[in-house]
Amino acid sequence: MTLRTDLHIHTTASDGRWHPQEVVAHVLEEGIGLFAVIDHESVGSVEAAAALAREAGLAFLNGVEISALFEGSVFHILGYGIDPRHAGLLDLLEANKARMNWINEEVLRRLIAAGYPVSLAEYEAFEYDLSRGGWKALNYLIDKGVCQGAQDFFTRLFVDPFRPPAPDFPPVPEVVDAVRAAGGVPILAHPGGSLRHVGVRGETLAPFRALGVTGLECYSSYHDAQTTAVCLDFCARHDWLVTGGSDCHGGFVGRPLGVPRVDASDLRLGELEGLVRAPVR
Ligand SMILES: [Zn+2]
Ligand SMILES: [Zn+2]
Repeated sequence: MTLRTDLHIHTTASDGRWHPQEVVAHVLEEGIGLFAVIDHESVGSVEAAAALAREAGLAFLNGVEISALFEGSVFHILGYGIDPRHAGLLDLLEANKARMNWINEEVLRRLIAAGYPVSLAEYEAFEYDLSRGGWKALNYLIDKGVCQGAQDFFTRLFVDPFRPPAPDFPPVPEVVDAVRAAGGVPILAHPGGSLRHVGVRGETLAPFRALGVTGLECYSSYHDAQTTAVCLDFCARHDWLVTGGSDCHGGFVGRPLGVPRVDASDLRLGELEGLVRAPVR
């Protein structure tokens, strides 16, 4: 039996363009039978998506994507099967959101110092339609005519001298502990993206075992066939879980839903199997 799967779909709870209803409509249209809604530092769409998935007869995994530090670099840890009401997890997500807000305000302060026509008071009062995708500061800068879009932001504005140092996101083991405490399973997201600076190899993946991570997002829109093969080999050798997802943001940054094409039988869900919210028939 085949079960097309996408375990990495963003919503308007972070920087995606789709509300949970639109995610479910697109998942159905694409013929995906098992999916997870994943947002940066937020579980804001999890319960709505889970309820819609149940109504639509789809299998669903709770999830979240959390920024964490290791050796001075930011990594994304996917927490699957978490309880979205777990107080400790929610505290950690709130603290990370505050750090993200600090980054955005710091970029604006630096742009203001350089004479750009923006203001913190105006930014604070700024509101935008969440279905545009992205985040508040990006949309503010776009509306002020300072920036054209996400790519322009990262190549021209989120660089020296406007780019602040990485905030003090929690270290990977702290995020792993929070995910575990909330009943979830910690997986390293898109190693091909996060480890780009050192390359994806056994030696660069190995430290994450000691940090408590228990699997890799082997199938990812960030990966070429070689990277996927290295990740799969690592998981097979170390008895790690294998997940996969598109990192779709509803069209905000490319990465279409359901790409790469993954079937549940390609994955190794292990303890996650018991956390899948299966449809009630
Ligand atoms: Zn990510
Ligand atoms: Zn993501």
